[in-house]
Amino acid sequence: MNRLQAKDLSLTTAMIPLGSCTMKLNATAEMIPVSWPEFAQIHPFAPLEQTQGYQTLFQQLEQMLSEITGFAGISLQPNAGSQGEYTGLLVIRQYHEQRGEGHRNICLIPESAHGTNPASAVMAGMKVVPVVCDEDGNIDVDDLKAKAEKHQDSLAALMVTYPSTHGVFEEAIEEICAIAHQHGGQVYMDGANMNAQVGLCRPADFGADVCHLNLHKTFCIPHGGGGPGVGPIGVMPHLKAFLPGHSVVDLKETYSESDLQNPKSKIQNPRIGAIASAPWGSSSILPISWMYIALMGAAGLTRATGVAILNANYIAKRLENDYPILYKGKNGLVAHECILDLRQFKKTAGIEVDDIAKRLIDYGFHPPTVSWPVAGTVMVEPTESESKQELDRFCDAMIAIRAEIREIEQGQADRQNNLLKNAPHTAEILISDEWDRPYSRQRAAYPTSWTRENKFWAATGRIDNAYGDRNLICACLPMEAYAE
Ligand SMILES: *Cc1c(COP(=O)(O)O)cnc(C)c1O
Repeated sequence: MNRLQAKDLSLTTAMIPLGSCTMKLNATAEMIPVSWPEFAQIHPFAPLEQTQGYQTLFQQLEQMLSEITGFAGISLQPNAGSQGEYTGLLVIRQYHEQRGEGHRNICLIPESAHGTNPASAVMAGMKVVPVVCDEDGNIDVDDLKAKAEKHQDSLAALMVTYPSTHGVFEEAIEEICAIAHQHGGQVYMDGANMNAQVGLCRPADFGADVCHLNLHKTFCIPHGGGGPGVGPIGVMPHLKAFLPGHSVVDLKETYSESDLQNPKSKIQNPRIGAIASAPWGSSSILPISWMYIALMGAAGLTRATGVAILNANYIAKRLENDYPILYKGKNGLVAHECILDLRQFKKTAGIEVDDIAKRLIDYGFHPPTVSWPVAGTVMVEPTESESKQELDRFCDAMIAIRAEIREIEQGQADRQNNLLKNAPHTAEILISDEWDRPYSRQRAAYPTSWTRENKFWAATGRIDNAYGDRNLICACLPMEAYAE
């Protein structure tokens, strides 16, 4: 385990500037309670009278999240953002069902959406109808209107991400939500980008009916290696009655009888079934988000959002002369993340987005999100966690890499055999007795003075990504090995 850990680049070495999935720094104080046996050693189905501390934690955290989002009801059950989407759409389906409109099954989703959106819609039994985006990355409102109108008899939901996955605050967001409502649909907001909203605006105030939060993004739960996550959903008052239930543990009744008085309703128990095995999902990690929110306070959270947006705009401004920023809002600003367009280098230097991502490893950085949401680009979200020194270090690396690309463009470096195509450079390659590359070992390994002091050595050189994706191998021994 320790050897594996030593091969990993962690936040203690450099920022990990992904898209919405950027991991924030975690204060030790936020993490400590997770190790307390009072939180760590409780069985999820323990009798409620033995888990009163947990009940208080759930209620307080739900209250905090309610205040942050404006929603009337919260379910902590979903274990990930994607599961929150699935849960939220089932809640919407149940709402239509309860009103005698169970036939509504069309889900409008903009082209820019995260892949989990259409996947969740299909799993919830809906039919996906894509909505076009314009060249600035915004939802094409005319196309949305046309599609909502066309499907108005069977429209179930619109799924929308705000700020958008293009890193821009969509100005028409209120109109977009209103169009869905006018045609009988509910609005599902993907809240993965909540880090750009906390303290500034609330999804419930501008038209969302349901929204998931990613506690492992915005609210500091560490998620290296893909988990664990918590993707609670918040809902407007008219949907509270349908939040997930549980067959073993009787969840506190969080709705009043008046919510349910609809003569058309044939449903006895309106709650949807459990969507996770445990009644409050990954409850043992909830203390992290509780601690984060409590330690930051309202003013601190609002300031964090401001700094996160400022940091993203700082990077966008420092890099815009070397790398075009793909999408910006009306005033030339981005939200909490920015997309750097690298597509032109394929023509000018034969350099692709992977080459730049791999070269960043030599500079000591975890590469940003590659080719999402637009192929041939990188998506950078620094969050409020990083200092100006760290942002500058990242920008300096990107600018230095641009200079290396220029050498190829001007014919000073070979188009195939160069610093970028051969990146990342491992210690084994650099220390080998054979060295026949047209550049020095020093430039390969120590491109900046910072790397001399704090070098992160990649454990492996370039791999063939496509080959790896298509040729799965099993590392477990075959049955014959047990025969002896
Ligand atoms: C991360 C993300 C999701 C999915 O959340 P998971 O917790 O990874 O399942 C959905 N939409 C957007 C925009 C995201 O960034």
